[in-house]
Amino acid sequence: MSRFFSEKYNSLTPYTPGEQPGTRDYVKLNTNECPFPPSPLAMKLAAEAAGSLNLYSDPELKKIRAELADYFGIKKENVICGNGSDEILDFAFAAFCDKNTPAVFPDITYGFYPVFSEANFVPYKEVPLLEDFTVDVDGLIENEGTVFIANPNAPTGIFLPLGEIEKILKAKKNNVVVVDEAYIDFGGESAVKLTGKYDNLLVTGTFSKSRSLAGGRLGFGIGNESLINDLNTLRYSRNPYNVNSMTEAAGIGAVRDDAYMKKNAETIAANRTYLTEELRKMGFTVPDSAANFVFAAKSGCKGSFLYEELKKRKVLVRHFSKPRIDDYLRITVGTREQVDILLREIKTIIS
Ligand code: PMP
Repeated sequence: MSRFFSEKYNSLTPYTPGEQPGTRDYVKLNTNECPFPPSPLAMKLAAEAAGSLNLYSDPELKKIRAELADYFGIKKENVICGNGSDEILDFAFAAFCDKNTPAVFPDITYGFYPVFSEANFVPYKEVPLLEDFTVDVDGLIENEGTVFIANPNAPTGIFLPLGEIEKILKAKKNNVVVVDEAYIDFGGESAVKLTGKYDNLLVTGTFSKSRSLAGGRLGFGIGNESLINDLNTLRYSRNPYNVNSMTEAAGIGAVRDDAYMKKNAETIAANRTYLTEELRKMGFTVPDSAANFVFAAKSGCKGSFLYEELKKRKVLVRHFSKPRIDDYLRITVGTREQVDILLREIKTIIS
C-alpha cells in the first residue's frame, strides 16, 4: 500500500479472481466460462463494430437494451447494461444498501458480495446455508436489509425454486431483492417473469457463461423502471461509456443467435449429468447442480490436496479455503473431452 492510499480502504480485502494462466496448456475448469467460442454472429457483428472505435460507445446502449427487452418481453426502460454483471451488482450494493439497510446474503455464495459490501461501505449479514447447502429462506427474511441471492447459487450449483424467491419478495416488500442469475440458462427458471409483478425485484444476468462472452464483459439488470433509473444514476456518475461498442455489437449477435446458446447450454447440461454420475461412482458427494459447474467433495480426501494435484497435472479447478467447504472443489463443466481428462486424472490421484 502506498502512503497515498486513502485510509477509508484500510480494511478492504479485494476479490481474488480465479487463475487465468494465459496459455492453452491447461484444461481450464476453474472460472465457469463456456468452453465453446462465441456465436459466429456475435463475432461478425463485433468485427464490424471495430471500424467505429474512433467514436464513443452509445451511453444509452439503446440497441442491446432493445434487443434484450424484446428477448424477455419487457420494455427497454426495464433494462440496464454493464461491464459484466459484476458492475451491475456493484451498483446495486451502492444504490440499495447503506448503514441502515445492510446487505443480506448466504454465507456460502458468490465471493464478490462481501467485497462489494466493503467497497461500498455497507454492513452485511451472512446467513448460513442449511445443512444440505440449500438457502435458508426464512433466515434471509428474518434479517433486515437488501437481499442478494445467486440463483443457481455459486459455488454449490443448487437452484432455489421461484416459489421461494416469491416468498422473500412478499415478506420483504420494503427491501430490494437482487436475484443474480449468472447461471440461469443451464437449468434454472428465470425470475425475470416476476419483475412486472414485484417492484422490489432486480434480476441480474450475464453474457459471460451461456453466451460465451466472458472476455467481452457484458451483463445486465432487469427490474422496475425506477430501480433501473437508480442504477443509472450511479452508472452516469461513474462511467457512462461502461460497455464498449464492440461488446454491445457482440451482445446483439449473441441474443439473436439464441439457438446457438441453447444448443451449447444443452451440451453442458448433458456433460454435467455425466460428470456428476462419474464423480458419485468414485465416492464423491455432489449436490444436484443447475449451473455449468459442480461442487464435489470426497471424504478422506482434502480439497486443497486434490486441487494441487490436479494443477500439477495441468487441470485447473477452483478451491475455496473456507470453513464448511474446505474439502470441496468447484469444477466447471467443460467439453466431454475436458471432463474425461479431469475424471482420468482424479482417478489416478485418488488411487
Ligand atoms: N454472479 C455470479 C454468481 C458469478 O459467479 C459471476 C462470475 N464470476 C458473476 C456474477 C459475474 O459475472 P460477469 O461479471 O462476468 O457477468
